[in-house]
Amino acid sequence: MSATFLELSAVSKRFSPRLSLGERIAAALGGDVETRTVHAVDGVSLTIKAGEALGLVGESGCGKTTLGRIAAGSMAPSEGIVRLDGVPVIGPGPHPRKLTTRIQTVFQDPFASLDPRMRIGDIIAEGPIAHGLVSKDAAAALVGEWLGRVGLDPSFASRYPHMFSGGQRQRVAIARALAMKPDILVCDEPVASLDVSIQAQIVNLFLQLRRELGLTMLFISHDLGVVRHICDRVAIMYLGRIVEIGAAEAIYGDPRHPYTRALLDSVPKLVIEDGTNVVFKPIQGELPSPLSPPRGCHFHPRCPIAMDRCRGEIPALKASGTQSAACHLAPT
Ligand code: SF4
Repeated sequence: MSATFLELSAVSKRFSPRLSLGERIAAALGGDVETRTVHAVDGVSLTIKAGEALGLVGESGCGKTTLGRIAAGSMAPSEGIVRLDGVPVIGPGPHPRKLTTRIQTVFQDPFASLDPRMRIGDIIAEGPIAHGLVSKDAAAALVGEWLGRVGLDPSFASRYPHMFSGGQRQRVAIARALAMKPDILVCDEPVASLDVSIQAQIVNLFLQLRRELGLTMLFISHDLGVVRHICDRVAIMYLGRIVEIGAAEAIYGDPRHPYTRALLDSVPKLVIEDGTNVVFKPIQGELPSPLSPPRGCHFHPRCPIAMDRCRGEIPALKASGTQSAACHLAPT
């Protein structure tokens, strides 16, 4: 792997939720209406090296999809900078159009992301033709090549999305993204909507494509098992912040943050104890609302080893070996 390729520096994203009808009426009548802010992403810094796959893991609502959209250039951050190959490309405000070819995204729902009125071949060829990456005459060969690479018959180019299964549609979405020859592929829960057996096929496809193409990837998932198969490093996100990041083998073998440990413990395991029970420990409590995140360490209301200090002081990410954890009790 070579030098840092994608770098997010102190990236934050805040949203102001729409006021309810009652609140809008109260505001129009000059009443006192509380302004609320969702802190979706809160000062996140991370890097991805060329050829590396970084997994971004956390519960629904932790901000990982928002962070992925910022990394992909489809959403501007409220604060912070995204650098691509050392060059600032995304900051607060409009983002440059050239990113549409350099970073591509594979979304969770392959049916919603494919235009049902277009043939598969046109869906895959549309981007490369529009961005001058291939001529109209050469587009059919490009489509055939990418359908083959993702395990589909090139003759499928004339079919429509509804003629495919969910797994096949996700293969088409991957072909469409890679036909743009992106520098980085952002995958946002790409197997979450698929049956388990199909998930395994798509995970194997990502592994194969990584080997063949040396893909650089940001792989977003709530599923630690899927991320373990695909990624070199893993970042754990909780309520807008990275709480642990490091080499995959270190994160899975020696998690340093109580939230990472809780996530790993909450994965159902096929381990029979006492001859009868399948044992796993679901994570306790609910993810707090990003409208009013807990002070100090955001995880303290759910943390089994929280101390007084945790309720008032935000823990910094502390590095130790190949991983860093944001916990007052993490080793340094
Ligand atoms: Fe738990 Fe405190 Fe560490 Fe947060 S800082 S994870 S509350 S021990």
